[in-house]
Amino acid sequence: MKIAVLNAGSSSLKFKLFDMESLKVLRSALIENIGEENSIITNHKEAIESLDIDFSSLDVIGHRVVHGGEKFQSAAPITQEVIKEITKLIPLAPLHNRANLEGIKVAFNKAPSVKQVAVFDTAFHSTMQKEAYLYALPYEMYERDGIRRYGFHGSSHGYIAKRAAKELNKSLDSVNLITLHLGNGASVCAIQNGKSIDTSMGFTPLEGLVMGSRSGDIDPAIVLYMQRELLLSVDEVDDILNKKSGLKGICESNDVREIIANDDEQSKLALTMMIRRIQKYIGAYMSLLDDVDAIVFSGGIGENSAYIREEVLKPKLFSNIKSLVIKTDEELEIASECLKVLKISEGISPAL
Ligand code: ADP
Repeated sequence: MKIAVLNAGSSSLKFKLFDMESLKVLRSALIENIGEENSIITNHKEAIESLDIDFSSLDVIGHRVVHGGEKFQSAAPITQEVIKEITKLIPLAPLHNRANLEGIKVAFNKAPSVKQVAVFDTAFHSTMQKEAYLYALPYEMYERDGIRRYGFHGSSHGYIAKRAAKELNKSLDSVNLITLHLGNGASVCAIQNGKSIDTSMGFTPLEGLVMGSRSGDIDPAIVLYMQRELLLSVDEVDDILNKKSGLKGICESNDVREIIANDDEQSKLALTMMIRRIQKYIGAYMSLLDDVDAIVFSGGIGENSAYIREEVLKPKLFSNIKSLVIKTDEELEIASECLKVLKISEGISPAL
């Protein structure tokens, strides 16, 4: 069985083609700078065409969809109805869901009879309880407006949890973990008995850790101050929080490898801030989990930087906890979610 996974970002496209019997990657591609100045690829349609794949020969196409809201608690075979629902969720993740939908549309045009599945970043966190996912805002803003913690990087945390359980020789439903996905975007997840009970990203992927160019947690009154007193527009504040903050805001680089090599005061400060925030979350999540079987490092920073791992694990409080490094594979997790969902909905045919 051949499953293609498409991960369409706002200006990028990640592609992997799996043979699911052998779990081998038959093809993979990363196309970046889509639609940007000087790029020969101007949209996702061209990006998908440049892969030169006969999509109609595939068994399944799996799509990463960032925001599934409360509607999607697991992966879903794509129908017209599902497309409508993902479209309704665009305001919650404007750049991401729009790009994901673009990928879905192009793939449907290329292969209308191939089964396609949407796998949501938020779904893994649908096991969080109300006390974890609610913000202490007027309750009607949750009920009416859907303002709550959703959590992201779900395919990564889900994959890491399964692999960690295997390495620890435990069943998934008996393992307690703190998983760290540390890439450009970064999040922590508290996993109890294999299920997400809390995570650092929230209503959007902006909350939580100090990231490459995102601020993570700040006092929400700063946003009001920026608008009222500094007279910044909504778009300017958005741009600052998402693109000009985090490590980049402190030391002008969002590349941890480069920042470690730089070794100047601002670079050191940026790293210390990032590490301290990770430690605060680990400490908080230790108090939520009865026992922690392992702290698991993943993502470009977590997988590659022994220095960052050592620094993160310095507090005495963490000294008796095992730590693991696991290379994440979001695309493989998406492919296996496709198989899982198609087994329970065999025979379903896409409505498009
Ligand atoms: P994305 O979220 O864009 O997929 P990645 O998971 O690839 O990001 O992580 C990118 C980050 O990983 C960058 O900050 C990069 O500098 C960092 N990184 C990669 N290799 C190393 C390394 N050997 N040491 C430290 N940081 C590294």
